[in-house]
Amino acid sequence: MLVCMANDMNESTYDVIVLGGGPAGLQAALTLGRVHRRVLLLDSQSYRNDPATHLHNFLTHDGTPPSELRAAARAELAAYATVAVRDLPATAVRAVGTGFHVDAGGEAISARGLVLATGLRDLLPDKPGLAELFGDVAVHCPFCHGHELAGRPVAILGAGPRAAHLVGLIAPIASRITVLTDGAPDDVPAGVDVRREPVTGLCRTAAGARVSFDGGPDEEVAGVFVSTELSQAAPFAEQLGLTMLPSGCVEVDAMGRTSLAGVHAAGDLAHQASLPGPLASVLSAAAAGQVAAGSLAAYLG
Ligand SMILES: Cc1cc2nc3c(=O)[nH]c(=O)nc-3n(C[C@H](O)[C@H](O)[C@H](O)COP(=O)(O)OP(=O)(O)OC[C@H]3O[C@@H](n4cnc5c(N)ncnc54)[C@H](O)[C@@H]3O)c2cc1C
Repeated sequence: MLVCMANDMNESTYDVIVLGGGPAGLQAALTLGRVHRRVLLLDSQSYRNDPATHLHNFLTHDGTPPSELRAAARAELAAYATVAVRDLPATAVRAVGTGFHVDAGGEAISARGLVLATGLRDLLPDKPGLAELFGDVAVHCPFCHGHELAGRPVAILGAGPRAAHLVGLIAPIASRITVLTDGAPDDVPAGVDVRREPVTGLCRTAAGARVSFDGGPDEEVAGVFVSTELSQAAPFAEQLGLTMLPSGCVEVDAMGRTSLAGVHAAGDLAHQASLPGPLASVLSAAAAGQVAAGSLAAYLG
């Protein structure tokens, strides 16, 4: 379905197809539009921060609903006659000659270059009730959600190095931290409370969440920090045979170039090999989108 198209260009070949309409893809389209490249942005409208009502840690946008940020970005794109935005999922991507074909809406759309910005998806620990809490009470990132839990008790689900890392970050914010080892062997930093019984479920309360255990009393907390498993939201990196990193992300260089000439990548789905994982934030994704798009414009000429 064509929902928003800045300009009907009647062009059979775009300079660049941007796959993804989150912060990385929207900024990439803006950067390319500023230098009058013919751009098609495809967006399946499924965003990583969909569970969150507000985004934080982005100067001038701290506390903005993510949908408002995207709407403002699309309004800005509408001013650029060479940029088209379609709310349409791409289904396949392939290299053809010196360019690329993208299958979407029953058509094979061609472009000289691609920006992959399809992001990652989160798989939550398999605990009853947890999914319903994800995004406000159950959270994954202290920079995104920590301040909203200030002065209140929080739990960290899971032990190990990640829990130790979170304890260090959250300690100045929370009134009390309880590590829920969920039956795993202890590896808990000193100075925090510990519950060692397996967690059997979580449910929303007026003050946050009630955590239930296999034995022992329930625990009332304002928030629960969780670690999620990340996976690519779309199969395009695999379809193009791009070099991947141990994190499951696409390898890019400092300019957002992937292992395939003409394909640049930005946002959560990609990072440089020197990092253990992506710099997963709205601002970082937008910055990466700008770099990847600028370098692609230079490459395509
Ligand atoms: C619950 C939660 C809360 C968060 N809160 C914050 C916060 O407060 N502050 C912050 O800085 N960061 C926050 N983040 C992280 C932030 O959401 C991501 O870092 C950011 O969204 C990454 O942007 P992106 O453009 O790479 O991917 P996304 O925003 O996930 O966008 C991916 C885009 O690709 C599209 N797409 C996927 N597959 C296809 C396809 N086949 N065809 C076409 N389009 C496709 C999607 O529809 C979407 O438009 C949060 C994350 C989560 C999970």
